[in-house]
Amino acid sequence: MKEKIPALKDIYTRFEAKTLAYKTDAACEKGCGYCCTEAGRIDITTLEGLVIRKAMEGFERSRQKNLTKLFQQEIRKREKKVVAACPFLMKNNACMIYEVRPFSCRRIYSTHVCSRENPPRVNRQVMEAAGQSIKELRQLDITGYSGHLSFILYMLSTPAFLDTYMEGKFKPEEIMEFGKTHNIAINKMIFTGSSNII
Ligand code: SF4
Repeated sequence: MKEKIPALKDIYTRFEAKTLAYKTDAACEKGCGYCCTEAGRIDITTLEGLVIRKAMEGFERSRQKNLTKLFQQEIRKREKKVVAACPFLMKNNACMIYEVRPFSCRRIYSTHVCSRENPPRVNRQVMEAAGQSIKELRQLDITGYSGHLSFILYMLSTPAFLDTYMEGKFKPEEIMEFGKTHNIAINKMIFTGSSNII
């Protein structure tokens, strides 16, 4: 899996280059954090989850413990359909994993300052480019899955799932129950024309 990481970064870079010209009127500013607190799902692929886990290994032990607690709380809230802030959002509204943030966070911006009444507005061409990049991300991670950040990180923290995934094996039956209840998509199914939700 690790050998796929340069290709993942290449998808991010190409998207940035393709959409740069449309983002000149973005109202986003450092320290806003609206998308990290009020956005719906932050979908990631398992490969993106792997990159984030690696970054987390470099955190101090106390931060790792705190994050484990925050993720448990966030999962419980999400399971009750309660909007919850991203556990990686720090008190100063900066992202703890900015350098390795997932594509969901890279693609979003807004042409106006957002509020609950006025959610983000994104240029149509950027939305279309994002759709293409998401297909590429899922194709790259063809034996993996997609779903909300904390659910995918939880799956990767399960040794049996991690082993299967790292070996490049495809055994969706092993996560069927969790997948169904947490709206996890099978990346491979997108390219076979079948329903991609477990
Ligand atoms: S990963 Fe970072 S940028 Fe993405 S929602 Fe969380 S705090 Fe915000």
